[in-house]
Amino acid sequence: MQSRWRADEAAATVARWAQQGVAEDVSLAVYGTRLLGGEPSLVLHGGGNSSVKSTAHDLAGDPVEVLYVKGSGWDMGAIEPPGLPAVRLEPLRRLQRLQRLSDEDMVNALRINLLDAAAPNPSVETLLHAFLPHKFVDHTHANAVLALTDQPDGEAICRDTFGDRVAYVPYIMPGFALAQACAAARRAAPGVDALILLKHGIFTMGETAEAAYERMIALVSRAEARVAKAARQVFVPATPAGPVMSAAEVAPVLRGLLALETDRDEGLWRRFVLAHRSGPAIRAFVDGTDLARYAMLGPVTPDHAIRTKPLPLIAPSPLAGDPAGFRAGLEAAIARYKADYMAYVTRHNTDPVAPKTPLDPAPRIVLVPGLGVFAAGDNAKAAAIAADLYEANIEVIANAEAIGRYATIDEAEQFDIEYWSLEQAKLGKRAEKPLARQIAVVTGGGGTIGAAIGKAFRAAGAEVALLDRDGEAAARAAKPIGALAVACDVTDQASVAAAIAKVVEAFGGVDILVSNAGAAWQGRIGEVDDATLRASFELNFFAHQTVAKAAVAVMLAQGTGGVLLFNASKQAVNPGPSFGPYGLPKAATMGLARQYAIDYGAEGIRANAVNADRIRSGLLTDAMVASRSTARGMSEHDYMAGNLLGREVTASDVADAFLALALARKTTGAVLTVDGGNVAAALR
Ligand code: ZN
Repeated sequence: MQSRWRADEAAATVARWAQQGVAEDVSLAVYGTRLLGGEPSLVLHGGGNSSVKSTAHDLAGDPVEVLYVKGSGWDMGAIEPPGLPAVRLEPLRRLQRLQRLSDEDMVNALRINLLDAAAPNPSVETLLHAFLPHKFVDHTHANAVLALTDQPDGEAICRDTFGDRVAYVPYIMPGFALAQACAAARRAAPGVDALILLKHGIFTMGETAEAAYERMIALVSRAEARVAKAARQVFVPATPAGPVMSAAEVAPVLRGLLALETDRDEGLWRRFVLAHRSGPAIRAFVDGTDLARYAMLGPVTPDHAIRTKPLPLIAPSPLAGDPAGFRAGLEAAIARYKADYMAYVTRHNTDPVAPKTPLDPAPRIVLVPGLGVFAAGDNAKAAAIAADLYEANIEVIANAEAIGRYATIDEAEQFDIEYWSLEQAKLGKRAEKPLARQIAVVTGGGGTIGAAIGKAFRAAGAEVALLDRDGEAAARAAKPIGALAVACDVTDQASVAAAIAKVVEAFGGVDILVSNAGAAWQGRIGEVDDATLRASFELNFFAHQTVAKAAVAVMLAQGTGGVLLFNASKQAVNPGPSFGPYGLPKAATMGLARQYAIDYGAEGIRANAVNADRIRSGLLTDAMVASRSTARGMSEHDYMAGNLLGREVTASDVADAFLALALARKTTGAVLTVDGGNVAAALR
């Protein structure tokens, strides 16, 4: 591993923060921490931490000895001075006298000694930093170090690799006891400037930020060299029984079977969003004949278990010739996993004084031979984090197996981490948004109305994919809301199939379709040419059917219901002169919504439409023309003056109507009007 420390960059960082009154010690700690956090093979997603001991001044101006230590919720790679809150050091050092300290009391002691009452909680490893005498302390979960420690004889391998300037600490879960053990190990060998925490990670110390950082790079490099010496193909691939299904075919089946039914009568599910990963290293791991041994031992470092659960699920191979067999096999495997998980909880949940609340039994990592890894989370970000962590697990386990044999913390220790009281305390405190864990697809997503719909659904917690003929328009609308943009011509069946597959690969499935793309054609019906009428039917009717059919196929594979929403038009109810080419296919689309409501109600799939009209001049035509430049723009209507309320109807009003229908769990086959009031267009 290369050192990325540059004296000029460090000095520039100090100078930049000095303008905002940040002390040099803190700026250097920030600089070093960011360098470490920028290396994914050292730390991932909030893992690791760092600190510096320095002097601050309290409000009265008196000097106070403090520990600036990473606050929870901050990533090392993106840390800034507020991410290293200051804690009074002396009261923390005095805690060394104690025999034991509960996690709750420890967190409280840290909080009451913060200089800033609004600062984030200092890291749970803060006492470890406080109990070491060195000025700068860095901590990572370096993959190469874990490959050496995660062995039955990990300590011997580490001593052989790192020598005597490093102290070795047996596995203890993070908290007060680990801090005491590390302090004792340092006292027993006063000259050491690094600690290897077996089956956990590495600490390096120094009198300067640069020294602590360089020591980390040097020791990790030594570990990498040791790994490289051993590196060879370790996993023996199982013989494939035939071609396998695609990720887009497997994901909805898996997502549906993972979903936890929370209320059968109400059709409520706790769904997951999935992330899929593949590639040569992942395939070598999941295709290995010995997968059931090396994958089922536990996480490479305890920090991962909360995101990935201690153990993954191994799915059956999804043979392309037997999708029904795969579904049945997967269903049985998930049932077995859940039963095993509950048995594990029962085995270890033995404290009668403080029994733990069992977590849901669904796996977060699913290994699919022949295909790769699927990670499950409450949203796309959580799924991606779990997938990243598991990729690190794969690298560490592969290297550990190359060196010797992978070994990790035992089941009781895994339980202690997964059911850590600090994590348990967070349970049930998160209020979820109404569309959390659902995946919505919006066509015409690059236009004004489509973008407004995407924004409203994203704000309601859904993962959103914006489809548009104009891929760049979709990307422009998607970026500010964190949605997925997919170029898609909804009048082309192959394009729709590819777009839906892309959404399914990105998120694991589809729960809501907002079929919004459309464009207006005009002409007196007795004189309009056939080509115009047929072109309008292609976009304003058949495209709705194509997209709905593709979405329904995914929803049926999931088996957890779904919602289809169509953008109909006032023209479908209340035709205007010379708008036949537009109104006729829209009338058919309104019928289409009702037909889906009838045909798929039993599967819990609802279908509704929005009849929007008199939207602010320009908006409607804008949105419509966006997806079809050949459209002949609508003539100017009296958009506002003509409505009963005399209020302007905007794109976000239309988006709110779609959202209301998505949330109306007992409503199907309905048409909701958004036009400021127009009795001529009222449904009767
Ligand atoms: Zn750690």
